[in-house]
Amino acid sequence: MANPLRNIRIVLVRPIYGGNLGAVCRAMKNMGIYDLAVVSPHPELDMSEARQRAYHAGDILEKRHQYESLAAAVADCALVAGTSARGGLYRAHARAPREWAPRLIEAASANRVALVFGTEDKGLSNEELALCTQIIRIPSSRAYSSLNLSHAVIICCYEMFLAAGRYRHAGEKSPEAACELRERMFAMWRETLLEIGFMKDDKARHMMMGLRRVLSRGPLSENDVQILMGIARQARWAANNPPVRRERRKSSEGD
Ligand code: SAH
Repeated sequence: MANPLRNIRIVLVRPIYGGNLGAVCRAMKNMGIYDLAVVSPHPELDMSEARQRAYHAGDILEKRHQYESLAAAVADCALVAGTSARGGLYRAHARAPREWAPRLIEAASANRVALVFGTEDKGLSNEELALCTQIIRIPSSRAYSSLNLSHAVIICCYEMFLAAGRYRHAGEKSPEAACELRERMFAMWRETLLEIGFMKDDKARHMMMGLRRVLSRGPLSENDVQILMGIARQARWAANNPPVRRERRKSSEGD
């Protein structure tokens, strides 16, 4: 499947601050989203500040498209998700970014999808929200619910990135230990625990069931098993080679 993130457009409506514009570019690039549209930026928006804050995302800043209205910026978009910090009139069906993300990503696999953000001081107007097919509200404290513009952008982009499923953890290099190796380890621990006097023969079965339970709770890699076998080996060796008691050494020194 083509990368749906390439069909996502971030639309900033009447941004005021260059710093926010730059930080938005950086947030987008962090999350693999490249299409930026800007609607009627403030005439005094500081472009040098924007360039500074974009840092390694200057390409997104330079390639942005500028429009005179939101309608023009989203004309080719199938879904238009508007964001708002406020609840209330026309915003009752707002959902968290995480709830909308699968629907938006599904649409973005075949169509262009816009995420629309409002101006720093007033947000989106009701007329602008009317163009939106979805409304996103980032859950936040009631004491101060309005996020910085670029922070709101990165939270939404992050959810898109996760929903697109394009990220995989590096994962364990060592494979999970197979039964035969695990059994060798348990046999070794059994011998060791008997030898160091941790358990008696009649309690061994019970104790070993407990140890099996503990060590079966999470995945055990071959590396993990080698470490556990190494500890058992060393414990046995130490039990058979007790350190010379300091007092004994002292008294023998006095002889
Ligand atoms: N005073 C404005 C907030 C503007 S913040 C208002 O009450 O709407 C600038 C933009 O950041 C908003 O227009 C919106 O796009 C986004 N934003 C900020 N906080 C948000 C939140 N909690 N949920 C969704 N979007 C948010």
